[in-house]
Amino acid sequence: MTDSYSNPLVYFFGQGRADGTAGMKDVLGGKGASLAEMTNLGIPVPPGFTISSTVCHTYLDAGQFPPRLRAQVETALQRLEAASGRQFGGSAEPMLVSVRSGAAVSMPGMMETILNLGLNDVTVAGLEAQSGNPQFAWDSYRRFVQMYGSVVDGLPRKAFDGILERRKTDADVARVIDLPVEALKSVVADFKAHVEQETGRAFPDDPIEQLWGAIAAVFGSWNTKRAVDYRKLHDIPDAMGTAVNIQTMVFGNLGQDSGTGVAFTRDPSTGAAELYGEYLINAQGEDVVAGTRDPEPISTLGEQMPQVFAELQQMAVTLERHFRDVQDMEFTIEHGRLYMLQTRRAQRSGRAAIKIACDMVDEESISVEEAVARIPPNDLDQLLHPMIDPSATLDLLTTGLPASPGAASGTAVFDADEAEALAREGATVILVRRETNPEDFHGMVAAKAILTARGGMTSHAAVVARGMGKPCVSGAQEITVDEERHCFSVNGREIKRGEWITVDGSAGNVYLGQAALVEPELDGDFSRLLGWADDLRHLQVRVNADTPADAHRGRDFGAEGIGLCRTEHMFFEGDRLSAMREMIVAQDHEGRTRALTKILPMQRSDFEAIFRAMEGFPVTIRLLDPPLHEFLPSNPDEIASLAEELGKTPAEMRRIVEGLEEVNPMLGLRGCRLGIMYPEITRMQARAIFEAACTVAARKGRVMPEVMIPLTATVVEFRKQALIVREVAEEVFRERQITVPFLMGTMIELPRAALTADEIAREAQFFSFGTNDLTQTTWGLSRDDAGRFLPYYLQHNIIDHDPFEILDRDGVGKLIQMATELGRKTRPDLKLGLCGEHGGEPSTVAFCDQLGMNYVSCSPYRVPIARLAAAQEALAQRGTMDRTRATV
Ligand code: PEP
Ligand code: MG
Repeated sequence: MTDSYSNPLVYFFGQGRADGTAGMKDVLGGKGASLAEMTNLGIPVPPGFTISSTVCHTYLDAGQFPPRLRAQVETALQRLEAASGRQFGGSAEPMLVSVRSGAAVSMPGMMETILNLGLNDVTVAGLEAQSGNPQFAWDSYRRFVQMYGSVVDGLPRKAFDGILERRKTDADVARVIDLPVEALKSVVADFKAHVEQETGRAFPDDPIEQLWGAIAAVFGSWNTKRAVDYRKLHDIPDAMGTAVNIQTMVFGNLGQDSGTGVAFTRDPSTGAAELYGEYLINAQGEDVVAGTRDPEPISTLGEQMPQVFAELQQMAVTLERHFRDVQDMEFTIEHGRLYMLQTRRAQRSGRAAIKIACDMVDEESISVEEAVARIPPNDLDQLLHPMIDPSATLDLLTTGLPASPGAASGTAVFDADEAEALAREGATVILVRRETNPEDFHGMVAAKAILTARGGMTSHAAVVARGMGKPCVSGAQEITVDEERHCFSVNGREIKRGEWITVDGSAGNVYLGQAALVEPELDGDFSRLLGWADDLRHLQVRVNADTPADAHRGRDFGAEGIGLCRTEHMFFEGDRLSAMREMIVAQDHEGRTRALTKILPMQRSDFEAIFRAMEGFPVTIRLLDPPLHEFLPSNPDEIASLAEELGKTPAEMRRIVEGLEEVNPMLGLRGCRLGIMYPEITRMQARAIFEAACTVAARKGRVMPEVMIPLTATVVEFRKQALIVREVAEEVFRERQITVPFLMGTMIELPRAALTADEIAREAQFFSFGTNDLTQTTWGLSRDDAGRFLPYYLQHNIIDHDPFEILDRDGVGKLIQMATELGRKTRPDLKLGLCGEHGGEPSTVAFCDQLGMNYVSCSPYRVPIARLAAAQEALAQRGTMDRTRATV
């Protein structure tokens, strides 16, 4: 940013009318803007001034301050001296200041703060006289030198702590606060000597020199590693920069009539409408943060200092009304006088966010639209799954991808059969595998959670776990799973079968031991908020459901139909898996037909139950898309037992299986290619779909099947498959003497399909974008192997987001946009949806709405998130329209 001469660089607050306002966050940072606004509201704020964040990059780029800053800071200091009646560097009543960072977006604890600045051997005497408390004065001095030495000179805090510890041992006291004054003086001398020894320069005694050193260090802290990492994680632009706030110190550590604390206008974890927080008597803010003393709950302040408590309550009401949102406030009491040091929008749990929004609508302080716009959609996740008790003490083993949300504890088990057997006996188990495949499905059903060393966000483990609503951490690269020895090792530790672990699939963390969990509770506020969202959105939300149970769960969460029923997922278990394998390994038409005859009734009964669960809503059934490697038996025992079932020798079966193995199964005989090669498979599935539909329709049920062809690359494939489906439909309708309206459409999950969408739309009535495969094929990147290098790519800024998690708009998104435009050109009423895992991700939901799609479809637990995200996008579009209208 450039230093424009028309704008001031320094803004005063705390007396009279402030130079700034709440709307100037970009210049003053959040803290500076809130101090200015509180001043203007008449709330007592210690006076001070803010150096604009525009100076941050000027300073960081040039290594020096803009020349006109010095004069502006000096003027502000004089004004500050006048306001406080004290003198900076004065020997009688010295003015001390704090120097704090504050960016437009809160980055708690990421940047630096220096307190008690202005102390030296002269001013400390003034402070001693002024407070009548030598211990306080020297402890303040000690804190200052320590902070300055570590923040400005960059010296490790450990050395200072070591010096302090030695003095405590010598004086035989447990707490710093109990050190005699003489000992504190020695600590200060030791600290200063340490700084001089390490830096080769004497500790600065001149307060002005101290001040400029501190300002430079606080600006510099914008670029510390933790601040940079934090910004990356939270998508905060580096160009924003921090402001610096210089404020006269007020002291909470002047005795029993002083103190400091933090208060929220409402409880940030439950949302209860009562003042919440904690405080410490005779302490400075850092004591609350450091956790060295146990703070008191804020309600106790009412007994200890009733007058101050009443004032605090009044300020809370004023601030919340003014900002129209829950505030997180920092305050200090100096000799019974209350000062506010900061107020900001309070972070809150998902549950609290919803309760607060609903309460504020009832209190008529915000509108329904504001309530809907305020809740981050992903926060709903916390409400839908059990989570780790926030107060639990945990031993982190490692992290992986947060593949399926929720948390669960259980004993580690490394084999699906064992997981099933143990669960049957009532044990609580977590299945740990290198990666999972359909052979592990029964183990996944039995387990409380799944942990895999390999695989990405759309790996088998991740997709299946999300569908089941089970916590899953996938791609935990640091662990080495030894499935033979039934253990895994991570960072030099070994976890054996039977040891308790906890998987937090929302955060991607794995802990040793059993953690306390808290259960989700969906209350009336949740439905109210989502009801408002439903009234606002235009994008429909469907569920990806493969079973009647998922379909019901989807309905409970408000899904308006099924957008993807993956029929191959109906064959993950027991007899069904055997029938599926029999079909795959069949050597001729007859063998395949025999297997298909077994499969037909299974499919038909599933479809019937799903149609019933979704009565009145459309159900998109995708024809089989089984990547063969997920279904072929892999170990000798399984090959032998399949051989026995089918009357073959193990050697024969091994040969057949080997003959079917593909080098790259994800790009092999998948999707509609299977139905093209073996039309009898498509015929069987079509029959199952229409027989089930006719049965439900005959009983007056409303069924709306949408038959979907997977992995189409060319319109010819679609035409051939659609022809079979339509022929079978006619056959069944004739046999059953009833007709059921249906649609024929296709997945768009290959770049070629997107590029030729106009041709395909001539024959297909709907498109559903399969963004898992479309991402995989656009990037030429296997979704199961991405975990090997995507973390590195993310860490090194080669990519901004995992494209399997957040839709890559620039690449994959461009293909989607092109396909929607091409498709609608040839078929204006083409129905459009998206059913990849991105369907429940808020920014993708917004993108789909912007493209004018009809729906998104996602796993059951993400349905509420998509409903809310769709409403927020509708509101955003309305806002843009309002803004456009206003400027016309
Ligand atoms: C997709 O590719 O996005 C999709 C939904 O299909 P699947 O994940 O089953 O390949
Ligand atoms: Mg796919």
